[in-house]
Amino acid sequence: TEHVQRAIEQKKTAFSVEILPPVKGQNIQHIFQTLDPLAELNPAFIDVTYHREEYVYKKHLNGLLERKSVRKRPGTVAICAAIQNHYKIDAVPHIICGGFDKEDTENALIELNFLGIDNLLVLRGDPIKSESTFIPEPNGHRYASELLEQIVNLNQGKYLDDELLNSANTNFCIGVAGYPEKHFEAPNFNIDLGYLKKKVDLGAEYIVTQMFFDNQKYFDFVDKCRAIGINVPIIPGLKPITTKSQITALPKTFHVDLPDDLANELVKADENKRVKEIGEEWIVNQCKELIQNEVPILHFYTMSKSDGFVKILKEVL
Ligand code: FAD
Repeated sequence: TEHVQRAIEQKKTAFSVEILPPVKGQNIQHIFQTLDPLAELNPAFIDVTYHREEYVYKKHLNGLLERKSVRKRPGTVAICAAIQNHYKIDAVPHIICGGFDKEDTENALIELNFLGIDNLLVLRGDPIKSESTFIPEPNGHRYASELLEQIVNLNQGKYLDDELLNSANTNFCIGVAGYPEKHFEAPNFNIDLGYLKKKVDLGAEYIVTQMFFDNQKYFDFVDKCRAIGINVPIIPGLKPITTKSQITALPKTFHVDLPDDLANELVKADENKRVKEIGEEWIVNQCKELIQNEVPILHFYTMSKSDGFVKILKEVL
């Protein structure tokens, strides 16, 4: 966990960011424009999300069904390589179970290893629009913990083809997701926490949390993790609310709650400019309290927009 460890050793809260690959058809310059001002502030690492292929089906008059890909944000791995080349900052691709069988995963891991990308955030992935619940690929992984096991095996030189002799080890450092307000599918918080512990016991070296707007939820989550023997760094994930539509969209999409004080102020705001001010003020206060509590890193969900974050970071770090 070099990038996380470094931040911890410096005993000063660092920051990291998550960006999305650009929408298909946009230039990579879009990413550099987002990252240039943030890179100057020296992030510990830069996460790049993974967006699984989605399909639409078109039925022709002759009865044949045509499958068309509508993947909107390709390029995760290439963007990570470009970030590492350009900024010399660790890039962390998100790697997911959905859409990959074990062979695809192994090939992707070999490619990442050859590119010098050694840090991964290992996830199950969300169901795509055409699925009501997550469906794994045939011979793919159902849970992040299974994907994680494959990566740990590769780190020990164990490939799917166990006839491969003298095969090279990889050296991936693995982060996983944690949910201070419970993963939406889990029957209860403790069961979800048990699965998180499983991921850590199998070799995850740090946890990045889902966004939260009430620090107490994060503090309680950390306490509960520590109580069951999860001892790895738990990096808080943070997102400032910037538009009116997010007031309802974020709780619905990410299954998180807005505290009364924040929600009441936001619903009173009559324009986006005011919403953004309230959102930024809230996140600055969250960050300040988290820093006081010596979190190693503040992780920002930027949605590939940097303007507000530079201001926030300058205020808190
Ligand atoms: P898991 O750890 O597999 O857990 C999924 C559910 O299964 C949970 O309810 C858990 O309690 C349960 N569970 C786990 N193991 C078992 C078991 N053995 N038996 C029964 N139940 C079990 N999605 C993307 O598609 N692309 C991204 O780039 C992306 N980035 C993300 C980044 C962060 C920081 C976070 C928090 C989420 C991200 N997501 C991303 C969304 C994520 O993929 C979803 O939240 C997904 O629904 C769960 O992923 P997970 O890795 O937490 O799954």
